[in-house]
Amino acid sequence: MKAASFAYAKPGSLAEALALLKRPGAKVLAGGQSLIPSLNMRLSAPELLVDITGLSELKTLSLNGNSLKIGALVTHSQIEKSPEVRKHVSLLAQAVPHIAHAAIRNRGTLGGSLALADPLAEYPACAVALDAVFTIKNSKEERKVKATSFFKGLFETDLKEGELLTAVEFPTGGKSVFLELTRRHGDYAIIGLAVHESRFVFFGAGPTPVVIKAGSLAEAQAALAKVEPPADLYNTSKTKKHLAGVLLERAWTTLSKPH
Ligand SMILES: Cc1cc2nc3c(=O)[nH]c(=O)nc-3n(C[C@H](O)[C@H](O)[C@H](O)COP(=O)(O)OP(=O)(O)OC[C@H]3O[C@@H](n4cnc5c(N)ncnc54)[C@H](O)[C@@H]3O)c2cc1C
Repeated sequence: MKAASFAYAKPGSLAEALALLKRPGAKVLAGGQSLIPSLNMRLSAPELLVDITGLSELKTLSLNGNSLKIGALVTHSQIEKSPEVRKHVSLLAQAVPHIAHAAIRNRGTLGGSLALADPLAEYPACAVALDAVFTIKNSKEERKVKATSFFKGLFETDLKEGELLTAVEFPTGGKSVFLELTRRHGDYAIIGLAVHESRFVFFGAGPTPVVIKAGSLAEAQAALAKVEPPADLYNTSKTKKHLAGVLLERAWTTLSKPH
């Protein structure tokens, strides 16, 4: 199948992009790794694609005090290769090799993945575990939203019409563990777990990242017992719950080891 026809614009500045996004039926195009297949399958038919890949101000990575600010257009590969991410935001560094394959990581962006809010994606769970802060802009103003309030439902976020996610601030330091189970490396997760300090966040366990805060393994296991992960094509909810428990125990063991 081919995409329905649409208009295309590639703005040269953020102000121009935000002005274009005010138009009815406008949609952001970033790495295109999820949007282009969905256009081709006619799951989406925007009137105007606003290609933001020319906006250099969304491609920066900067260390400010206790946080690492990553622009929305920074690709998965750039995150994977970044010494700053490896040194300061270990959870992202651990998670990114699990995202798809190299060709997709070369094009897919941080902002695209977070805006899409796929329940099986790695970054949303990491952002929630890290209590990251998102910068969102429209043509008039800028607002900040915590990751914990950004993910609203299945593929649904706090982003409103005309808005663009421009950057994400991740706190630096702290102890993190990332674990994921897949059928083959690079596949979307069956179930996954992103942990930062005492915040355990499962993905693949619900429509949005599922947070469990617990002071002991027994408390965490009791909280997990109340979670009902959705079945997928190959795994029942019961299997996924069992696997979530396995990841929880593994993460707890890793976190309990001295630095
Ligand atoms: C075969 C395959 C396997 C994959 N496996 C995984 C995987 O294992 N884990 C995983 O997490 N992902 C996976 N992906 C998805 C991949 O990571 C995508 O890159 C990502 O989900 C979307 O990023 P993008 O930059 O390509 O966004 P696009 O496809 O360009 O856009 C996705 C959506 O986000 C919106 N959007 C994009 N940027 C912004 C922004 N800055 N502000 C507001 N809205 C925006 C778009 O309008 C669109 O609705 C896979 C994709 C493929 C094709």
